[in-house]
Amino acid sequence: MSEARESFTPLNADELAELIGNIQSHGLRVESKIERRRGGAGPSDAGMLWIDGAPTTAPTDAAYVQSSPYEMRHEDDGFAVYEGSTRLAEVRLAPRPKYYDLSTEDGIPYWKIALMHLDSMASTVLQTCAYWGNSDQCTFCGIGVSLAAGRTIAKKTPAMLAEVAVAARDLDGAVDATLTTGSTATPDRGALYVGKCAEAVKNASGLPVQVQFEPPEDLDVIDRVKDLGADSVGIHVETFDPKVLAQVAPGKARWGIEAYFGAWERAVKAFGEGQVSTYVILGMGEDPQLTIESCRRAVDIGVYPFIVPLRPVPGSLLADERPPAPEYVESIYREVVPYMLARGMTAEGVMAGCARCQACSGMAALERAGSPASEGGLADGRTSLPLFA
Ligand code: SF4
Repeated sequence: MSEARESFTPLNADELAELIGNIQSHGLRVESKIERRRGGAGPSDAGMLWIDGAPTTAPTDAAYVQSSPYEMRHEDDGFAVYEGSTRLAEVRLAPRPKYYDLSTEDGIPYWKIALMHLDSMASTVLQTCAYWGNSDQCTFCGIGVSLAAGRTIAKKTPAMLAEVAVAARDLDGAVDATLTTGSTATPDRGALYVGKCAEAVKNASGLPVQVQFEPPEDLDVIDRVKDLGADSVGIHVETFDPKVLAQVAPGKARWGIEAYFGAWERAVKAFGEGQVSTYVILGMGEDPQLTIESCRRAVDIGVYPFIVPLRPVPGSLLADERPPAPEYVESIYREVVPYMLARGMTAEGVMAGCARCQACSGMAALERAGSPASEGGLADGRTSLPLFA
């Protein structure tokens, strides 16, 4: 056993929240093979691990990670995060899922159909997008990267996803399924297809399912997706700053931010408060105050703002950018998370998907840190943050 290991003191909840925030911004240098997501719809590039038991994803592949002060090192009986010679926390790696060794009858490997993201089976059901490869492409997105590299197939059928979901549940303990899609040039923007995939997954496996899509032109589509059986829905505005949205997601910006609020209101009616979420990516030049106010407005109508730092994906148009400073990310969390907690909106209440898993954000770590239950923390033993005016 190393000297550093003998003198190791475990982090408290505040220190762990800070470490996760730092690692999500600076990245984690890894000397070992680690299960990760490369490419895919939306922001990705994520090594998947548990840090002192907290589910976390962290950039591991991008060039900037090489200058991160944080390194994951192999120890006699596991792994740990180090900063220089200081051992900071224990690491447990996501094991290679057993179902990755299986294939469909016609020879498609299961891992090309869906990946395990820690304890969630996740798939981009249509790995193509009407915006990809033209002036509408979202600059942070990597949906075409994994397809071009042959790591996935363009279209996953409901039957394929159902087959893989059962295996992911039985062999690897998947607790939910997260299904996203590239946008289509049809009025439903892909929502009905991902809804049909959710129906098949749910019928076969019984797992709760989150579906993700753009606001459809006809909002009745949202009710039809609900009727197909999805439990939660992500309709992702990505940023609340209209100028930034026009730069980073010109295709999505065409609908306007109010179209998202309209779709969310309809979705909350169908799916319930807290079961509707949106990614909010920080670090793309957005106005912080507008971001905080808009997150709170979303919370007020029952939408979970899933706030994450930008994670520049190798191969995406933002590949050469850097994630935002962890202090900036935390400053936004600290204005939004207490607001959510005061309204009873927590990750615990989300049935499926990104906001249930939480590993790509530091929000849940901050939920766990802060004041004890006797001073306003959650009744379930988790703790809350002090409220900001
Ligand atoms: S809409 Fe944007 S984020 Fe979504 S798949 Fe298309 S390019 Fe990627």
